[in-house]
This record gives sequence, structure tokens and C-alpha cells, in this order.
Amino acid sequence: MTRATKIVATIGPASSSADVLERIIRAGVDVVRLNFSHGKAQDHIDRAQLVRETAARCGREVAIMADLQGPKIRVGKFAQGKIELKQGKQFTLDANCELGNEDIAGLDYKDLPRDVKPGDRLLLNDGLIVLAVEAVEGSKIVTSVVIGGELSNNKGINKQGGGLTAPALTAKDMEDIRTAMAFQADFLAVSFPKNATDMELARQLAYVAGEPYGHRPSLIAKIERAEAIPALAEILQASDGIMVARGDLAVEVGNAAVPALQKRMIRMARDMDRVVITATQMMESMITNAVPTRAEVSDVANAVLDGTDAVMLSAETAAGKYPVETVEAMASICMEAELFEEMKLEHDFVDKSFTRIDQSIAMAALFTAHHLGCKAIVALTESGSTALWMSRHRVRMPIYALSPQISSVRRMTLYRNVRPVHMQFSSDRDEALKQAEIMLVKSHALVAGDSYAITCGEPIGTAGGTNMLKVMRVAR
Ligand code: PGA
Ligand code: MN
Repeated sequence: MTRATKIVATIGPASSSADVLERIIRAGVDVVRLNFSHGKAQDHIDRAQLVRETAARCGREVAIMADLQGPKIRVGKFAQGKIELKQGKQFTLDANCELGNEDIAGLDYKDLPRDVKPGDRLLLNDGLIVLAVEAVEGSKIVTSVVIGGELSNNKGINKQGGGLTAPALTAKDMEDIRTAMAFQADFLAVSFPKNATDMELARQLAYVAGEPYGHRPSLIAKIERAEAIPALAEILQASDGIMVARGDLAVEVGNAAVPALQKRMIRMARDMDRVVITATQMMESMITNAVPTRAEVSDVANAVLDGTDAVMLSAETAAGKYPVETVEAMASICMEAELFEEMKLEHDFVDKSFTRIDQSIAMAALFTAHHLGCKAIVALTESGSTALWMSRHRVRMPIYALSPQISSVRRMTLYRNVRPVHMQFSSDRDEALKQAEIMLVKSHALVAGDSYAITCGEPIGTAGGTNMLKVMRVAR
């Protein structure tokens, strides 16, 4: 059985040894996420190198995603490390406070007092603590505790309904972009973008930082601010993909709104030929338990049925007790869910027209393979675009995307139902087709008697040059 949905796994203390990393990669991780909210630059550099080495040893294509911290607003530290907030009590957030106590806490974002007004609600520690703003006095935000609880050092702050003016890229993010480009991170995830401009700026910075290495990453916009929802189309336009970042998003828009937003985001991303990752708390209980809850199983399966390209693990693999078991469980949930996908290929094309030759050939290959019941679709691709277009539609057979460009191969690790293969081919078309078939038979993707649809561009080796479709059968 093969799996169409991809798995993104965050690595951290629980998964950064060569042994555990190898086991989670063998268990099915397609993209490794390095979370720049934690750790030092050197940790990420070391981990990136270990990922490349381990993937090579496993004979698997694994991409690296550098996830920037972004303007996450946090409370400062407390003299005792943590405090207990009691409902009804007054509590002050002060941009000038150095060390907090039961009555007051510092802020790492000094402009927060300018962004809030009496009546606003601030949510701390992923929404577990709720504060109502009563007054703003200079650097101080005076609040009353609506929902109390334990508050420890550096917990995050969100404003309900959004509206914080912090720029999407901090000085730390800019430094982290340089670090990530030096190890050629394949994906750059931008936290808290609110519009297309934030993504365009990140792309410019990444391209400039990647220039010395001849590297250009794909950009992923994390949708986790209330303002990003009405700007979704423009953000998608400016990005290569999005992440349904349900943690912060839920805090800003309310938990109840998230499942429907997830469906809308996935649909829009696919319609606009962008990739989409569904993230956060997917297998949360596996941080401490060896099996997931029924609700988590349903959550992962539903994301698959919604059409997500990838599902993501955060603390489960970064800091959990069962990183390998979590990936294994997630992989099998995806495969079971995929069996129940509805195929509506004809329906996908109602009201659609195509003017590009390469895109039309890609769609023709999908249709042909679907109607003939081929075993596979094969695309010889330079940039990976043909595979992306094909992967926006649901078909039963896998799409093998063969490319001589390693950057394209790694970008395709995220595309649903696409199996990227790194290989060089002859500049002679017939010879290249032969090489493709030999490789697919060797790797047991095809056996004698199997039919497949294959696309390529003639002359071989030009990006955007796909202009040929052929239906073949492996000789008996
Ligand atoms: P984070 O992003 O894990 O970096 O906070 C994901 C989310 O907010 O859901
Ligand atoms: Mn987040």
C-alpha cells in the first residue's frame, strides 16, 4: 500500500539523535520541520545536516522546512518562574517591567499597549488564560482576570479578533532566514503574515540570502491571524503554499470557527494550485501516550478527506515520548482515509479552461490515466509544475515525478500523491522514456503488463516545456 498524504514532522530533543531521526524517516516522514522558536542557529544547522545525511542513508527524499518564529508576543519572566492567576483579580502587563510577580508581568513586544484598548480580550498560553483589558496607562495594560490559571515564563499572548500591528518579520527572523538559506532549507514557513506584502518581503529576503548558494526556497504562509482570513486569496497568490496553523488561529478566531476554515483553506489552496499543510495538535495525546485518541484519529482522517497535501506533527515528534509510534500511527490513518476518497475528476474541470500547453498536457495525462485505469502517471519534469498541477486533483494512481533538479525533487515531497524521484535522463526523448521505465520497474513501482501515462517535454530539459503525452505498457 502507498500513501498519498505527506507527513511533516518537527524535530527537537526527542528526535534529533541519528537513531530516532532514521526511524521516523523510515516510518514515513516526508518533510522535517525545524522550529526557529526554539534553539540556537547552530542547533538548526546541525540538525539540517543530520537530516540530509540520514535521508541519504535511507535512500529517501526528505525536505527541510525552516519555520520562523515571527512576531509571537510573549510575557516576560517571573521571579519564581511561574505564577497563579486568580479569577477576578487585577493583573498588569507592563512593557517596562523586568521581572514579573503575582500582580505584574513584562512584555517582549513593547508596542502592545498601543494596540489594545479597554474592552479587548487578551489570551495567554494558547487561550487557557483570558484577561479583559480595563485601562491602558503609558507602558501599562491594566486587566482583570476572566479565566485564571498557571502562567509561566515566556508564554504567548494573542488578542482575540486579531489587530496587532507587529510586523511579520522581526530582526531575529531576518537573521534566521540567513541561517536557513545557508543550509538550503527547501521550505521557509512565515509565521503570522497578515497580507501578501508580508509574504513578498519574506520571499525577497530569502532570495537575496539564498543567492550565494544558488538556492530559492518555497514559501509557506502560516495562516494564524484573524486578519489573514479575509486576505487569504492574496496571501495564497504570493505564496507557494499555506499552513492551517490551528494553534494560534484558534486563539484569535475562536476554536469553533477552525474546522470550517480548515476546509475552506484547503479548497482554496488546491483551486489556486498551491500546497496546504494541516497542523497542530493532530496527535497531541501521543506526546505522553503510545496510542492516539479516537478524536485525533478522526481529525487526521478528516484533514486527509478535506484534501490536505500534508499533515503535521509538532511537539509529538519534537518533544514527545513516542515520536516513531506517532509517525507510524499517522501514516496508517492517512492510508485508511485515502481509501474512502471520492474521485470527481470530471467535476473538477467544470468551468475550467487551460491555455498553457504544459498544463493542458498534465490534465490530459490525468484524464487518460483515470479513464484507462492505468497503474501510474509518470512525469519527467524540470520545475515540478506538471506534478503540482496533476496533484491538485484526486485520482487513484500515484504520480511519479522524475526530475534531474534536486531542488524540484525536494519541493515535490510536499505534493499530495506525488512520488518524487531524483534522476538524470538522456537528452534523446526515446532514450529518456526508456530510462524512466527501467527505473520504475527496478523500484517495483511498475511490473510487466502495467500500463502508465507519461509526459515529457521535447527537447528534454526545458522548464515549462512539457508538450508530449504517451500511454505505454511495460513489456511482459
Ligand atoms: P507554531 O505554529 O507551532 O509555530 O505556533 C502553528 C500553530 O500556531 O498552529
Ligand atoms: Mn503559531
